[in-house]
Amino acid sequence: MKFLSFRNPSGAGPCLGVLLGDGRVFDISAARLALDFAQVDVVPHTLDDLIRSSGEAVEAIGRMLAAPARERYTWKAQDITFLPPITPHRNIFCVGRNYREHIIEGNIANGRPPNSFPEAIEFFTKPPTAVVAHGQPVRRHAALTDSLDYEAELAIVIGRRGVDIAESQALDYVFGYTIVNDVTARDLQRRHGQWFKGKGLDTSCPIGPVIVHHSGIGNPNRLQVELDLNGECRQSANTDEMIFTVQSIITQLSAGMTLEPGDVISTGTPKGVGYAAVPRRCLNVGDVMTVRVEGIGELTNTVVD
Ligand code: MG
Repeated sequence: MKFLSFRNPSGAGPCLGVLLGDGRVFDISAARLALDFAQVDVVPHTLDDLIRSSGEAVEAIGRMLAAPARERYTWKAQDITFLPPITPHRNIFCVGRNYREHIIEGNIANGRPPNSFPEAIEFFTKPPTAVVAHGQPVRRHAALTDSLDYEAELAIVIGRRGVDIAESQALDYVFGYTIVNDVTARDLQRRHGQWFKGKGLDTSCPIGPVIVHHSGIGNPNRLQVELDLNGECRQSANTDEMIFTVQSIITQLSAGMTLEPGDVISTGTPKGVGYAAVPRRCLNVGDVMTVRVEGIGELTNTVVD
């Protein structure tokens, strides 16, 4: 199931929905107020609450989807407004330098020996104020940066509280998966030593359009990840090229540090970023970025002044 948060055509929201295979959206928020479905009392109002709820709620939504009455509560996707699929309760966790070929291109662009790789995961975060939805604009921040860049990434959504999580148990803590575009001001990333400032500008964390329940993703370490810039493919790789798997990321991040339902962990980007391209290709006003992750969908955002 592909869950989303949205405003309906009347502007009401946030509503909880499921993106159907034919592109329509099943409006769970409207359906749960009607008398057409049994046992909807276990279904929460919002996607944030669904992530924090038991598997019983997901099963109840599955039964709603199977009922003929669902047809009365659907919208065309083009008539709704996508909201971020999650309202972060704290910073978005991110993994730096996780794809071998991207590390090599970064080393070359920064004048380092090409084949030096991290021995431990490099974690950083993006603040909740950076989050924007599918279809919302990304600000160019021209007064602050001359090198705004894109990064296509698979992101993990945690569904269970846990600490010191073993790799063999790690996937049991996942609610689902979404897409993040880790928009980055390269000059600020370098100038401030730590990456936080260059990764934390407003609108620099497009996320969505949906969260796919974990049951809909067979192996998160074998998904195609791509980014098109104005229709031209700039990044194309598979998560099987990650140095650190989804399981090892959860294990290392949760070591001595509690993860909570609703935490988002972005897993790093493959090669093809703009600052390492020859010639360099950073973002300009009007650029359209589309990130595509196999089994999840497409996240599209346009750069504005
Ligand atoms: Mg990144």
